[in-house]
Formats: sequence, structure tokens, C-alpha cells
Amino acid sequence: MTKSEEIMELEHHYGAHNYHPLPVVLAKGEGPFVWDVEGKKYFDFLSAYSAVNQGHCHPKIINALIEQAKIMTLTSRAFFNDSLGPYEKFVTEYFGYDKVLPMNTGAEADETALKLTRKWAYMKKGVAEDQAKIIVCENNFHGRTISIVSMSTDPDAYTGFGPFTPGFIKIPYNDIPALEKALEDPNVAGFLVEPIQGEAGVYVPQEGYLKKAYDMCKAKNVLFIADEVQTGIARTGKLLACDHEGVRPDMLILGKALSGGVIPVSAVLCDDEIMLCIKPGEHGSTFGGNPLAAKVAIAALEVVKEEKLAEKAEALGIIFREEMSNVKSEMIELVRGKGLLNAIIIRPKNGKEAWDVCVKMAENGLLAKPTHGHIIRFAPPLIITESQLREAIEIIKKSILSFE
Ligand code: PLP
Repeated sequence: MTKSEEIMELEHHYGAHNYHPLPVVLAKGEGPFVWDVEGKKYFDFLSAYSAVNQGHCHPKIINALIEQAKIMTLTSRAFFNDSLGPYEKFVTEYFGYDKVLPMNTGAEADETALKLTRKWAYMKKGVAEDQAKIIVCENNFHGRTISIVSMSTDPDAYTGFGPFTPGFIKIPYNDIPALEKALEDPNVAGFLVEPIQGEAGVYVPQEGYLKKAYDMCKAKNVLFIADEVQTGIARTGKLLACDHEGVRPDMLILGKALSGGVIPVSAVLCDDEIMLCIKPGEHGSTFGGNPLAAKVAIAALEVVKEEKLAEKAEALGIIFREEMSNVKSEMIELVRGKGLLNAIIIRPKNGKEAWDVCVKMAENGLLAKPTHGHIIRFAPPLIITESQLREAIEIIKKSILSFE
């Protein structure tokens, strides 16, 4: 048995079977690269689902982690700690909101947004108790908790996990008339939307969709809630994907790259009118807002600005889509995306599918993962250089063309 096989066997034997990873065992990461336990080097074109936007083990972020880890890691929110306040000031000024509620994972931040929206509906909008509804989109992905899978339309996500949380209206994504109809219900408190549906396969809505949806929500006194856990923090070529349409969400949900993929850090940002609806004791998390997270998140967000990652993602994304659109292969049905969040829809050929393409790319030194069977997402760390990107593009081309 190779070392990789041994470790995969351990996971198979002792771990829950809730993932189906590519057969690669990674041991080290640096910038846009990862290495497996046998020492083989790969371009990482998943970036831990866009958590590692700043690159693996970014020295500035790791340094912030180490320095704070030596002093204090966790106090809980039973006491103040000297890192949280400065982080809260920093992050609210950075994104332009009155307040932040710090959590850890993306799913927790989404849950927080749902609770805040319901509370606001009862305290401010005047919705009768327990009647608040939140509009969500088909093919959404917001995480894995019971309430979140209650919003899902993916049978893999919800089957066998009922009974489900009520209070959600599911409408097609990128469908303004459907939103208009759903908004007629006076009990609707919020519209929760991914500006680009990441897990669905990098589904980019029509230009103007977000702005129109935002305006319609405003007209009905409904909160526009953007889940930017995957699209936010420079991934799509702007700080936030909503920035492409000049939309400032009433509530902004962030996670993943908020820590540069170093530790779980997530957040909900909104203004006082909404945030102050939640009172002491009504929501929280032992680890949310811990000093380590605060220091790491500041460093991670500073890197985004210092290294102009949004501008880089914008420019490199154009090169990626142009190069991939020019590949002469029947297997490439469509190339789509924004910034460095892109996907290729794979048309199966001679029994070979997206999974086989990913296995071939791994052999050739590049890691990406299929989603929904026929879509491959390409999301390298944003610190990748143009020449590294071009090298990676050659690997992708060579891999796909090997099936011709
Ligand atoms: N929201 C979106 C848009 C996501 O893409 C994800 C994860 O992929 C989540 C929420 C859940 O984040 P986490 O896995 O950290 O709970």
C-alpha cells in the first residue's frame, strides 16, 4: 500500500462516509500549490471552496495566527476580549455596515441571518408572531443544518432529514416574475440569495437580476440578504459579487475567505435597525468572535486590499474564460463565471465524464472537483500569478484534449 492508500483507508474505516473526495491525500500547501504525501505538487483549483482566496498559508495571516495564539485564543463572550472590539470596528468599516455578528462557519452565519430576519419581521415590520416567511432560490446552497436543508431543493441535501423547518418560499433563481409574485405575501420578511450560485455549478444570473431583485425587496419592505460566503472577498473580481451591480445588501453573510482558510470565521453584517433586534442571550456561539479569529480575519482582509486580489481576480478571470472558450473539444459545452469563480460544463464523451477529467487533471498536476456530475468548478487562490495561471490552463487543456 502507498502512504496515500493507507491514509485513505483510515478515513474510510474510522470516518463517516459523508464525502466522496478525489483520491489525493494532501500534506502541505503554499500559495496556489498543494503537495500530496508522496511529494507530488498540484495547482489547487478549488481553494477549499473559495476559502483560501489569499493562498495557502499566507505568511501575514499565519503570523497573525501564531502571534495571537501565544497570548490568548478563547474567552467566550462571557467576558470582553481585547481583540474583538478592534476587529468589529475594522470589519464594519471595511464593508460599510453599522454592526457585525461574528460566528464561525458559513452555515452558522446563514442561520444567524435567518434568525435576525425573523426577529426584525416581528419587531419592526409588524408580521404576526410565527408567521414570517423568507424567500429562497431553487438550487441554493447555504450549508447543512436542519433549517438550511429545509430551504434546499437538492434531494441529496434534504432526503431523510425531515421534519423540516417551515417558513420558506422557494422560487426559481434568476426569475424576476417569480420573485414579484412571492413578494405579494405580506408576511415575507427577507429574500436570501447567492449573487452567483456556487455549489449549483457557478450559475451566474442575468445582468441586472440582483439590482432589480433588490429594488423590488425595497418596495415591499423586505430585507435583501446576500449569502456571499463563497462569492465574497474578491473571488468574483470585486470585493463582493453584489458590487458588480452596485447593490448594498441589507444583510451580508460572509465566511470562508474571511480567515483566508486558516480557521473558521464567519460573520453577518447589517445596520443597527436590524442588528439591534437581537438582545443578550438570544443568539451566540462559544467560539464566535474569539481573539484568534479576530486577529486572523483582520490580517486576511488586509491581504485582500494590499495585494489587490479583487483586481487580480477580475483580470485573470477574463484570461481564463477566453483561453478555455478557445479549446477545441466537444467535451466543453459551456464556460461561465465571474472573476476567478468559473465553471466548465462537461459533455460526456466515450463514457468519460467530469469526474474522469478531474482524475486526469490530478494526474497532470491540477486539482478541481466536479459538482452535480457534469460541471467542474475552477477557483484557484487569487494570489496566483498570470504565468502560473497560464501554466495551469495548459494542464486543463491537455487533460480535456486527452479524451479526444
Ligand atoms: N453559503 C454558501 C454560499 C456556501 O457556498 C457555503 C459552503 O460552500 C456555505 C454557505 C456553508 O459554509 P460552511 O461549509 O462553512 O458551513
